[in-house]
Amino acid sequence: MKNYEHIFFDLDNTLWDFDKSSILAFDKIFDLFHLTDYGIPSAKEFHKTYFTYNNQLWEQYRQGKIDKDFLKIERFRLPLKDYGIYDENLAHELGESYTDYAARLVALVPNTMEILTYLKNKGYKLHLITNGFLEVQTIKMQASGLDKFIDVSIISEEVGFKKPDHRIFYKAIEKVGGSIDNSVMIGDDLSVDILPAKEIGMFHIYFNRKQIPHNETLDCEIKDLIEIKNYI
Ligand SMILES: [Mg+2]
Repeated sequence: MKNYEHIFFDLDNTLWDFDKSSILAFDKIFDLFHLTDYGIPSAKEFHKTYFTYNNQLWEQYRQGKIDKDFLKIERFRLPLKDYGIYDENLAHELGESYTDYAARLVALVPNTMEILTYLKNKGYKLHLITNGFLEVQTIKMQASGLDKFIDVSIISEEVGFKKPDHRIFYKAIEKVGGSIDNSVMIGDDLSVDILPAKEIGMFHIYFNRKQIPHNETLDCEIKDLIEIKNYI
């Protein structure tokens, strides 16, 4: 086993249970904005509609085709439209309110604290590389207590490049004073977190929680964070 020093984690759906906190936030805004009065059957239904649009919009955001402010509102404007609701104001308010709640409703992936404690005790430096919004990621880190474990957070908005762009990985390694050889990347998204790490020769652990089939040859693949112990 190599002498790794720097472990880089993705945040959303790797440590932070984004899907879970997103559902919790939908329950909140559904009640807060009385969305049943608009004919939307349930928070769960609304979330389902939102989820598909959100993924599509995030892909466009990663590619630099749309900006953050557009994404925040559009991901509500489109699902509202599906229910025949054309209300720019409501889309805007939902967008703001959702972003706020989703960051504060703490939901961590199982074994997050256990594995971070283990790695920290072993002397590794732990860092984040995330494409999430700066203000949101900071709140999440503090609200969940993750900030106590993380040395350096590399946030795409600050660096100017988003994953899977190789440059954000190089910037991250440079920022922490590490090297490709002594760094490890851990994330839940094969094409955004793992393949770029593989391409630049960085040791990678694919957190494939949902056991999504693929044909890539990878350094490691796990379905529970605790399995990281087997490799580093
Ligand atoms: Mg992720």
